[in-house]
Amino acid sequence: MTGNANHGDYHSMKMWRMFLVNISMAVLVVIMLVYLGILIRNNQLIGEEIQARARSYFQHIVLARRWNAGYGGVYVEKKRGVESNPYLENPDISSIDGTLYTLKNPALMTREISKLAEDGGLFKFRITSLKPLNPGNGADEFEKRALEFFENGMHEYSENVADGEKTFFRYMGPLFVEAACLKCHAKQGYTIGQVRGGISVSFDVTEILGSLHRQRYIIIVLSTVTALLLIGMLYAIVRRLMRKVRDLYARIEAMSFTDELTGLSNRRYLFARLNAEYERAGRNSRPISFIMADLDHFKSINDRYGHQAGDVVLRDVSGVIKSELRKSDVVARYGGEEIAVILPDTPGDLGLAIAEKIRKKVEDHGVILSDGGVLKVTISAGVSGFVPRGETAEGVVKLVRSADDALYRAKHNGRNRCEVSEP
Ligand code: GH3
Ligand code: MG
Ligand code: MG
Repeated sequence: MTGNANHGDYHSMKMWRMFLVNISMAVLVVIMLVYLGILIRNNQLIGEEIQARARSYFQHIVLARRWNAGYGGVYVEKKRGVESNPYLENPDISSIDGTLYTLKNPALMTREISKLAEDGGLFKFRITSLKPLNPGNGADEFEKRALEFFENGMHEYSENVADGEKTFFRYMGPLFVEAACLKCHAKQGYTIGQVRGGISVSFDVTEILGSLHRQRYIIIVLSTVTALLLIGMLYAIVRRLMRKVRDLYARIEAMSFTDELTGLSNRRYLFARLNAEYERAGRNSRPISFIMADLDHFKSINDRYGHQAGDVVLRDVSGVIKSELRKSDVVARYGGEEIAVILPDTPGDLGLAIAEKIRKKVEDHGVILSDGGVLKVTISAGVSGFVPRGETAEGVVKLVRSADDALYRAKHNGRNRCEVSEP
């Protein structure tokens, strides 16, 4: 009944809210994970890209050095401004025509290309070693760390290093002793395959890191907006669903309390309300009346006009009775052709008057049958009414039985009449 319905609604509301909260959390977690995944993967890719760039610079230099070392150094014409390498024993030679040439070994070539790259604003690199031939080529802190790692078998090392406003990516790769190197470096006690030093590469990554940082903000905003949109959509869908389920629930509930043929309330609803109304009347010390009406000679209507015509009569008379009563009164089909009415806050004599009004209406009505004929029908009614006292279940039985007894008297006294039970 209404109490139960509210109870059901309360539970389903709670259930929906739980469902919504759970699914919102799930959506939030999934979206956060997806965007976090994108962010991490992106960082990783850019990191790999920077690393690959550094590695490629390094390999280019190593190739150039190998080319140079392969020839045991390369002579260039010693024009004005071209210095001789002070770390070589006899760097200068002259040709037959007297032109002077000086030897550019891998170390010197590396230093000169490095200067070109730096002056061009491309990147910086330098060759260094834990034991440099040229003391000016000593390793800095980063390079020392890298070189120590190389001695322990690592093949490359990199770090992001801040320098004022800017951030530089520093990369270092090892140089292994090759046969061609020994010509100059044998006196340092190197053997082939040994790590002799390394080349460190450094370039500006401030811009890339800045855009990665910006991207982080964009992704946070995007994931928040996506999550909010999805949750909003979910919320709207769930609300619609909730309303649909509630409507359906209400319809099913109404159906379970309605008599199919007459559209009146059914017996189940009648007794539920009777108990509730009886109890309330008792609590408020107010009277309650009950009418039990029964169609007269209904069996002979069925016999003469057929069962279907009987149904039409039943439906028609039900409509007439209902239309004579207030909304707060309960009109129900009690049994086959018996209609019961609960009149809250109504004493027995007033109940009788209402029953009489109904009886008169039905008598005057005339049911139109499907063949167009008009059929006059009558009802008899028994009324009981009192202010409840004592136990509800017993009181309800008494109220119904009294109305039934009065109905019996009405039938006995000639039908098409109303009787009220003795108070
Ligand atoms: P009384 O005046 O003493 O009430 O006589 P009655 O013929 O109305 O009473 P009785 O109890 O002998 O017959 C009731 C009949 O109502 C019997 C049954 O076939 C009929 N009836 C019960 N339910 C339905 C229904 O849903 N449709 C139709 N058409 N008839 C029904
Ligand atoms: Mg009857
Ligand atoms: Mg009957």
